[in-house]
Amino acid sequence: MRFDGKVALVTGASRGIGRAIAVRLGSGGARVVVNFARNQAAAEETAHLVRQAGSEALVIQGDVADPEAAEAMVKAAIGGFGRLDILVNNAGITRDTLILRMTLEDWEAVQQINLRGTFLVTKAALRPMLRQRSGRIVNLSSISGRMGNAGQANYAATKAGIIGFTRSLAREVASRGITVNAVAPGYILTDIWNDVSEEAKQKAIEMIPLGAPGRPEDVAEAVAFFASDAAAYITGQVLNVDGGMLMS
Ligand code: NAP
Repeated sequence: MRFDGKVALVTGASRGIGRAIAVRLGSGGARVVVNFARNQAAAEETAHLVRQAGSEALVIQGDVADPEAAEAMVKAAIGGFGRLDILVNNAGITRDTLILRMTLEDWEAVQQINLRGTFLVTKAALRPMLRQRSGRIVNLSSISGRMGNAGQANYAATKAGIIGFTRSLAREVASRGITVNAVAPGYILTDIWNDVSEEAKQKAIEMIPLGAPGRPEDVAEAVAFFASDAAAYITGQVLNVDGGMLMS
């Protein structure tokens, strides 16, 4: 899958899955805008890896939940590289706890970044894509949003919401040559699991038919497929990348 001449914006690309997506798109020839929230050194490292893979990258700090920052990310793509072809809404957080212990702040923090952030960056990115009459939007959902997960009511609600958002937007913009799809990872080894107990991680592994957690690169391949010309006739779909954890 090649992306020569294409420009991609990947939110939350300083670490984990976002970094793997940025590097995968860059190695396919896309010029990549690397967004991050706090971790500048890690974002610069992602940009370095994109350049090492043979492409160009620029780094932009910004909270996806901030409307001005969302606009600035898209402006950075247009200003730096002249266009925007691929948006990957990857930035996401968890605040796991059982519902009776969940505070309104736990609920709202996850909504802000996972759902409001996806909405804001998508809205900003749609303008140039509509003008170009082409574009690819790939949203990060989660199998938690499809099957539910005790302790993740807030997170699962946002990840299920992303599926509804993906399908509605796919219908709205299909006639303009823009596809919108989602990838739903299972248990992928990144920092997002840092606060999860060893016992819960072991339980998750026992639910995986392929017997092990996935790598960020496994998710990046699925995102690259949706972003590629090979997926031109696919829109409104959700692809699980979960070692068979959820078969539906
Ligand atoms: P991660 O390792 O925790 O990395 C999160 C990334 O999001 C970082 O780059 C972080 O930037 C960025 N970020 C956080 N808040 C942000 C904000 N307000 N604005 C912009 N960027 C922000 O997470 P991950 O595991 O790679 O997850 C990536 C996506 O995959 C998320 O949407 C997650 O829900 C989804 N997912 C992951 C798994 C999994 O098992 N890992 C499973 C299902 C779905 P800083 O470095 O600057 O903090």
